[in-house]
Amino acid sequence: RAKAAGRNTVRVFLPPMQQEADLRLILERGLRAALEQDRMGTQFALHFQPQITADGELLGAEALLRWHHPQLGEVAPEKFIPLAEETGLIHALGSWVVDEACAHLRAWDRDGIAHGKSLAVNVSAWQLAHPHYAARLVAQVHEAGVAPARLTLELTESALLQDFDGAQATLRQLAAAGFRLALDDFGVGYSSLSYLQHLPLDVIKIDRAFVSELQADAGNPLAGFIIDMAHRLGIMAVAEGVETVYQRQALEQMGCDGLQGYLISRPVSDAGFRHWLADHRQALLS
Ligand code: C2E
Ligand code: MG
Ligand code: MG
Ligand code: MG
Repeated sequence: RAKAAGRNTVRVFLPPMQQEADLRLILERGLRAALEQDRMGTQFALHFQPQITADGELLGAEALLRWHHPQLGEVAPEKFIPLAEETGLIHALGSWVVDEACAHLRAWDRDGIAHGKSLAVNVSAWQLAHPHYAARLVAQVHEAGVAPARLTLELTESALLQDFDGAQATLRQLAAAGFRLALDDFGVGYSSLSYLQHLPLDVIKIDRAFVSELQADAGNPLAGFIIDMAHRLGIMAVAEGVETVYQRQALEQMGCDGLQGYLISRPVSDAGFRHWLADHRQALLS
C-alpha cells in the first residue's frame, strides 16, 4: 500500500530517525526493567551539587539524578527524564529520588555532615499534576523519618502554568506540610510576574542564561532585577551555573543569597560531597 511504502521510504532516507526510535525503546525498556526489578540502586544514583551563601557558608545542595545504563553507560537526564514523563515512569522514578534523598540526609545527620541543611530535589510537572502527589510525598517523607523542611522541591514554571489553580493548591498543601519550595530555571519561561506573589515560594533559582550574561562590558544585566524582585516578595535568590569569579562577585554585589555552579563544585557523588565539605571548611577557616 502507498501509505506503508511511504513509511518505508521515510525510513530509507532518514536512518537517524530510526536509530533515535530504537534508542528510545532501549532506554524505555531499561528504565522499566530497573524500576520493576528493583535494581534502581545498581544503575541510578544521586549526585550532589553544593550551594553556598555570599559568605561561603554551606546553604544546601541539589540532588541530580544519574543513570549508568549497563550497556550504554551514562545517560543524560535530558534524555531519560522526558522519556520517564511520556511513559508515566516518572512517578516511580521521582519516588525513588525522594527515598534516596532521605537516606542520604539521614546518613549525613548521623555523620554530622551538612547539619540541618536542605537538600533540593527536582520535581517534574507530571509529578506535581498527579492528584495524590502531595499526600503521598508527606507520607513518604514521614515514613523515612525526615522533616519536610529538609527537602526543597524544585519546580519549573511550566509545571505551574499548565494548571495554575491546581498547582497553587498543591503548593500550598506542600508548604503547609513544611516543605521548602523553589522555582527552578527562573526567567526563561513564560513569566507573567504577577503569578509569583500567589505562590508560597522560598527560593527563586536564576537560570544559568542570566548568569552567563554576567561578564565585563555586558551592560544592564537582568540578574540584578530578578534578585531585587525576589527580595521584594520575601523570596531568596539562588543563582545556578556560576562558572567564573567575575560572576560570583557580580552576584554577591547584587545581593544574591545563594550560589551554585561549577566554580563552587560540579555535581559529585556522596563521597565527593563529603570531601568537598571537608576541603571547603578548611578553606573558609584559613
Ligand atoms: P536543573 O535542575 O536546572 O539542574 C541544573 C543543571 O545544570 C544540572 O544538569 C547541573 O549539572 C548543571 N550545572 C550545574 N552547574 C553548572 C555550571 O556551572 N555550568 C553548566 N553549564 N551547567 C551546570 P544535569 O544534572 O544534567 O540535569 C539536567 C536537568 O535534568 C536538571 O536541570 C533537571 O531539570 C533534570 N533533572 C535532574 N535530576 C532530576 C530528577 O531527579 N528529577 C527530575 N524530574 N528532573 C531531574
Ligand atoms: Mg534543579
Ligand atoms: Mg535549574
Ligand atoms: Mg537548568
